[in-house]
This record gives sequence, structure tokens and C-alpha cells, in this order.
Amino acid sequence: MESPDPRKPMEVALDDAVQGWRHWLLTRDRPELYSTQWASQGGVWTPRRTALATCPYGCDRLVVPNPSCSCGFYLRREPGEDPDITPQAERDCIVIPGRAAGWGKVIEGGVGWRTSKAYPTELWVPYGAAWLAPGLKEAYKCKVNVSNEVTV
Ligand SMILES: [Zn+2]
Repeated sequence: MESPDPRKPMEVALDDAVQGWRHWLLTRDRPELYSTQWASQGGVWTPRRTALATCPYGCDRLVVPNPSCSCGFYLRREPGEDPDITPQAERDCIVIPGRAAGWGKVIEGGVGWRTSKAYPTELWVPYGAAWLAPGLKEAYKCKVNVSNEVTV
């Protein structure tokens, strides 16, 4: 799972993975998903690579998500507002809601989970950015929808 064969589609059908909702950001000049929550590689979710959570407050990677900290990837049971999607992010970026598998170290909370590892499994591209959908599908090998429910 750490370094999947790049020639094969990413497989995240892990028995112990949770499935939750979250958002990613895209900039118009960079076709990779990223998040403002701390992730490895500067917040970029590299296609076909497990995203590893890091802690902005200094927790050792091996203890992320730390029960006494707020670190880890957040996955919600239900779709909803994401406090990380700020007005500035909405102005500067394309916001991509979707679902991710989370595994590794998992802490269950009131609205979902915090996990140490994650990978997108389904994305909803806004209608106005529908041209991005085929590239995202090819790169991440996950299901990609345009927000008017049309599947590409
Ligand atoms: Zn932490």
C-alpha cells in the first residue's frame, strides 16, 4: 500500500479502511489535489500514492493522529461544510468535494474519523470545471463525477 505499482490502478479496497467525506483543493495551474490539512509533500495528494498525514504541531509521524492533538486526515460520515474551505480558498481554488478511504491509525470521533493514511475514492468536480474531470480520473484512478451527477 505504501508504494503501489504505478502501472496498476490504485486499490484501496482494504477491509479496515473507513470511507468518509472531505474536500480537496485544486489550483488552475496545478492538476493535483491538495489540502490545507497537513499532509506529506506540502499538502499535495500525489496520484496513486497513499497520502500520509503529518502534524503541524510536531507530533511524531508514528503517533498521528494523536488522540491528544487535532492532527490526521479528517473524514466525515456525512457530506457537509468543511472548516478548512475558507472564503479565500474558494476564491483562489477549485473546491472538490469527495470521498476518501482512510486507514492506518484511525480515531473515531463525533462526526467521523481522523486517520493517518488516506486516498481519494470518489470526486465531484464542479460543473464549471468539468474539463478537469477526465484528467483527475486518469491520474487518481478513482470515480470522478461532475456535480450535475454526470459520471465521466
Ligand atoms: Zn499532532
